[in-house]
Amino acid sequence: MFEYKPRELNYSKVKTYKECPYLFKQKYVKGFKEGLIAASSLGVSVHRTLEAYHSTKSFNGILKFYNKYFISGGYQSAQEQMEYYLKGKEMLQEYAEKDAQRKSEVISTEKEFIFDYDEWTIRGKIDRIDKIGQDTWEVIDYKTDLEPPTDFKAKDSLQLGIYSVGAKRYWNMKEGKASIYFVSNNTKASADFKDFNEEEILETFIKTGELILKEEFKPNQEHCANCLLKNRCPNSTAKEEI
Ligand code: SF4
Repeated sequence: MFEYKPRELNYSKVKTYKECPYLFKQKYVKGFKEGLIAASSLGVSVHRTLEAYHSTKSFNGILKFYNKYFISGGYQSAQEQMEYYLKGKEMLQEYAEKDAQRKSEVISTEKEFIFDYDEWTIRGKIDRIDKIGQDTWEVIDYKTDLEPPTDFKAKDSLQLGIYSVGAKRYWNMKEGKASIYFVSNNTKASADFKDFNEEEILETFIKTGELILKEEFKPNQEHCANCLLKNRCPNSTAKEEI
């Protein structure tokens, strides 16, 4: 059941607030669902497949899991669904081929951290955690964008930053790195835990949380074109003709 917890923060909430405070209100205060589109539907399918693949430690059947967890919703036509299905199939086959060379040990998938900081509770769910050496870890977030950004800098990522803070505070993982794994081209961008400024990251979270508590929910119409609520939002400047 939907419950709004203003004192609880995670990366998705902070990101959404920064994109558009009004969007934050719709999603997290009122509980509106954005709904699936092709890209997000494929993203959920791939995440579920990888969770099952690594949880079972059965390295032969990634496509078996994909067929089981592929979500058919969110596509505008059967043809679009098939196009995305095939893109997902290709990226997962390449993922499994690369994974066969992996030296690290996958120790968890979809694992949650939670810690209190001042009056706030901060939590997050990490797609995959690997042990990469003696008391050294890698926290990994999968991204399924079909065209991964070419200018992504891991050490500037707020998401990886809070994941590294969570790993250190909640699991006492002192040494390690945080990575985004771009599944569509099977590349990874990483930064060492020590590359992140914990104080700055937590300050960013808390400042955003304070604006949320003050209920400052003005629309940011610069984000409308990329917003999944653009056809339903009264403040949208990017409504499409249907
Ligand atoms: S459509 Fe525009 S104003 Fe409305 S929630 Fe989305 S980004 Fe904000």
